[in-house]
Amino acid sequence: MNTIRHDFRSDTVTRPSQAMRAAMARAEVGDDVFGDDPTVNRLEGHMAAMLGKQAALFVPSGTQSNLLALMSHCGRGDEFIAGQEAHCYRFEAGGAAVLGSIQPQPIAHLPDGTMALAEIEGAIKSADSHFARTRAIALENTFGGRALPMDYMQAVADLGRRHGLGLHLDGARAFNACLALGVTIRDLAAPFDTVSVCLSKGLGAPVGSVLVGGSELIETARRHRKMLGGGMRQAGILAAAGLHALEHNVALLEEDHRRARVLAEGLARHQALAVTMPDTNIVWVDMEATLGARLGAALAAQGIGVSGIQGRQRWVTHLDVGDADVAAALAAVERFFSESG
Ligand SMILES: *Cc1c(COP(=O)(O)O)cnc(C)c1O
Repeated sequence: MNTIRHDFRSDTVTRPSQAMRAAMARAEVGDDVFGDDPTVNRLEGHMAAMLGKQAALFVPSGTQSNLLALMSHCGRGDEFIAGQEAHCYRFEAGGAAVLGSIQPQPIAHLPDGTMALAEIEGAIKSADSHFARTRAIALENTFGGRALPMDYMQAVADLGRRHGLGLHLDGARAFNACLALGVTIRDLAAPFDTVSVCLSKGLGAPVGSVLVGGSELIETARRHRKMLGGGMRQAGILAAAGLHALEHNVALLEEDHRRARVLAEGLARHQALAVTMPDTNIVWVDMEATLGARLGAALAAQGIGVSGIQGRQRWVTHLDVGDADVAAALAAVERFFSESG
């Protein structure tokens, strides 16, 4: 039983609002594997147009969306370059290697979350039968809640183009990145061949991501989606939630970012906590490991959910946390420190 009343673990914990549920209930549907679902088609058309690409594909998860992108850019024995901490390398159960026979080439991150261009270039293999063929570079934005600058993404894309590589953006939180960078999602997507966007994080839909890109890549991805068991039938019910989220919830991300700053400033008042000021909706808090365990337990006992491993906590704001939740969390942290001296 979940006893969390103020849930800062992730922006995936949002539950669909009454209005979103009503939009889902009203959705016109058909069999999407036959291409017959008008609501899925509307969502895909809308996303493609918004990102300035030819086509889009509605998929069950961000993990599947990234995998489909990598499998569309790369074939068996090919290689993709991604950050050591990139979701598509680190947090997707090795899917590209297991299911796509694609070798990852991870690159270390600099302290600002980017990868050095020279490191990326140095990892691109020459045409030699000893090597896997390097076929694609995957970037992620936001990356751990940090908004990576447009000129960096453009520079990586230019480098990739010079070497004939495909460019993928894991934009699970693309709209958060746009808000922090002050760019449109079309601008954000421009350097890339494929972009994956999650509807089920800050946007508040219960399920779904969209992979957007050129028509050929998306046709290949559609075939892989079927192969992986991701072809859904009357999925318009889910696409309707996504359309509702795009219409109503993108504008609310600003509130999440504001609340994350309030949270960060409140937490930073405690000397034992090293708080990284957030660009978007994710606040990282570092502390001594035993303190982390004690603080995490004290918060859990008061119904406050935070993710954390050892001395590192992650607090995420989203549609289902309001000002009162932030205030309750800060008060609980305050009590913890005043009681533990
Ligand atoms: C959450 C996330 C994903 C995967 O999304 P799921 O829908 O949970 O599979 C991919 N990339 C990033 C950066 C994410 O944060």
